[in-house]
Amino acid sequence: MKSWQIRFKGIVQGVGFRPFVYKLAKKYQLPGEVSNGPSGVRIAFNSDEVTAKAFFAHLQKNAPRLSHISFQELVEIPSHSYVDFQIVASQREGEKDLLFTPDFGICENCREEIADPTNRRYGYAFTTCTLCGPRYSIIQDLPYDRELTAMHVFEMCESCQKEYELPTDRRYYSQSNSCSTCGISLRLWDTKGPRSFPSESSLISQVIEEWNNGKIIAIKGIGGYLLSCDATQGSVIQKLREKKHRPGKPLALMYPSWKELGDYDFSWEEQAELLTSVSPILLLRKGPSYDLPKEIAPGLDSVGIMFPYTPLYQILLSAFQKPIVATSANISNSPIIYESDKREELFQIADLILDNDREILTPQDDSVIRHSKFFKQRIIIRRSRGLAPTLFHKEEEKKVSYLACGADMKSSLALRHRGKYYISQYLGDLGHFDTEYSFRKVLTHFENILKPDIQHIFHDLHPNYASSRISEELAGQKQLPQTAFQHHKAHFAAIMGEHSLQKSREPILGIIWDGTGYGEDGHIWGGEAFIYQDKEIKRRAHLAYYPSLGGDKFAKEPRMALFSLLPSHEKVRKKFSTSELKVYDKLHANTRIKCSSMGRVFDAVASLLGICDKQVYEAEAAMKLEALATDYFGNSLAFGEHYEIPLTQEGFLIRPMFEEMLAEKEVGKPKGKIAAKFHNSLVRLVEEIARKEEIRKIAFSGGVFQNALLLDLCMDRMGKAFDLYFHKQLSPNDENIAYGQLILADLFKV
Ligand SMILES: [Zn+2]
Ligand SMILES: [Zn+2]
Repeated sequence: MKSWQIRFKGIVQGVGFRPFVYKLAKKYQLPGEVSNGPSGVRIAFNSDEVTAKAFFAHLQKNAPRLSHISFQELVEIPSHSYVDFQIVASQREGEKDLLFTPDFGICENCREEIADPTNRRYGYAFTTCTLCGPRYSIIQDLPYDRELTAMHVFEMCESCQKEYELPTDRRYYSQSNSCSTCGISLRLWDTKGPRSFPSESSLISQVIEEWNNGKIIAIKGIGGYLLSCDATQGSVIQKLREKKHRPGKPLALMYPSWKELGDYDFSWEEQAELLTSVSPILLLRKGPSYDLPKEIAPGLDSVGIMFPYTPLYQILLSAFQKPIVATSANISNSPIIYESDKREELFQIADLILDNDREILTPQDDSVIRHSKFFKQRIIIRRSRGLAPTLFHKEEEKKVSYLACGADMKSSLALRHRGKYYISQYLGDLGHFDTEYSFRKVLTHFENILKPDIQHIFHDLHPNYASSRISEELAGQKQLPQTAFQHHKAHFAAIMGEHSLQKSREPILGIIWDGTGYGEDGHIWGGEAFIYQDKEIKRRAHLAYYPSLGGDKFAKEPRMALFSLLPSHEKVRKKFSTSELKVYDKLHANTRIKCSSMGRVFDAVASLLGICDKQVYEAEAAMKLEALATDYFGNSLAFGEHYEIPLTQEGFLIRPMFEEMLAEKEVGKPKGKIAAKFHNSLVRLVEEIARKEEIRKIAFSGGVFQNALLLDLCMDRMGKAFDLYFHKQLSPNDENIAYGQLILADLFKV
């Protein structure tokens, strides 16, 4: 009898792959073995050639739902005789060549079990199976075996061990398997210490009571602590905002189930998105019957919603029967708190802490996703739990390893190793010491597991970015060369890379719009149109430069952008005091730093319309402007009026549009109409340049493209005549810079 070997790479560990292989091998009556190794799953067996091929095809076709095969191979090997089919111990040696498996939300089977009083996992808050539960957050190393995870301290009881060893059980080889006898336990702390309860169910009842009494509770989840409170009580939400120093930024809600979502307007695609294994925070539009306290998402038309993605949340929410506010436990832009010994910090905000004794090895925030209203475009706002650090990408031939340090505000790091891309979870603002610490920790984690032989380090052109400084330091330590890339070229490369457009023979137009990025001419870029052709990126056009005023204030106060564009207009000057005007007039006349930022243009329009002069959180002005315009469009995108934005030697001139908008506001045109017209004008601008350059393929990136209305309008106005590319796996904001840097590195053969 011949012997064969099958190898699968990709996401093939922690998704029930070995049990699946086992069951199928039994069906085919093949003697052999399956094992996990550092580069994926290996199957060896005896059979004739026809059966081997059929078995191989069957495995690929019916692979577990959560798996993702990026490489497969069937080869004949030297003859070896197997007796029975077995799952054998993992091989630890060899080069790591695997994608990391992200964390999965609770599956339907487990959800049912914890609600069933006759099941032995009834009410057990850490129930998992091969199809659900934490993965990335609990691994120390690969292959994905219990000894190499945070579960290694919990010894399985007899019943759990039986399930683990029984091939027909859905917990066969489930590394996170545990139950209330042998597993993880809950503790409820107040400032005096842990409280004792006669049973876990009485502890749960206590939590419910505390929520009802308007208490804030920090709960240890999958990626870190969440701060929670009753979402129907405005006063406790206000208290949470004050303690968290988060005055206006929208807060996410967790609902018991989709049955309670009647207050929102959502599509079936959105409902499906909420129920996937990613189980993200999804932004949903408020419906007419929405009546939760205004403190949740002041002034916005949508709210971030999620479902319980762990058994613990499921148990709590089924008992509470109301939505809760659930937001990362951190203080503005610093990383999520995840260690149990940070109790003191947590008690600065929370009245109580619901803790457990499983360690979180890799902290992560919840991922945030939205869908556009008309074309159902999926936009990732924050890429974290459930998504990171995996990027599905056609594997390239073995290439050298690169490290990219990304940008600062929404930082992430990216590593290319053996033709695969590893993109860290969203890490936060590198201006914070804690974020820098997380950055280094994630890098060490990747390096420990993958042992990449990094040959070159990449960073942003901005000399004052913390990420650039870290890059420099690492390059020094490791004695490696480093190269800086322009911010918006990295954005452009990121969107091209995601769609493999860098191999295109046709030219690509890159519309890259965001807040700020250090430009090659020393000015601040952000409203750029690039053309990519023959491995070259040219800056074809940009917004005509306008003065960048007042450093940090420029991004924080939308009225400053408006002032920069129309400094002598009486209505604009009214937004400032006499003493402020004195300073800003001088600045305006003398500042040498100019910008082409599209982000600031959104700010300026919001200020002009009187909806936001000073932002309390990033992108507040842009989000409110989008909400206003979306409301005006209503249920059709038919409204087509626009402003002219002439293209001149200096770039796209936007001042005339602002003068026109001000005049229209004076005569009482509705704000919503002006906002809608503004959005239309931007799409016209893209179309104009594409037609002029005779380019059919247009790629979009940068923070501005988190705007769902803008995506819908692009699709509506240009979707037929052009090929449009938007981010699907990555966020359009600066989280994609690190990945873009890796693509540029390849493109320019650094
Ligand atoms: Zn499950
Ligand atoms: Zn057990």
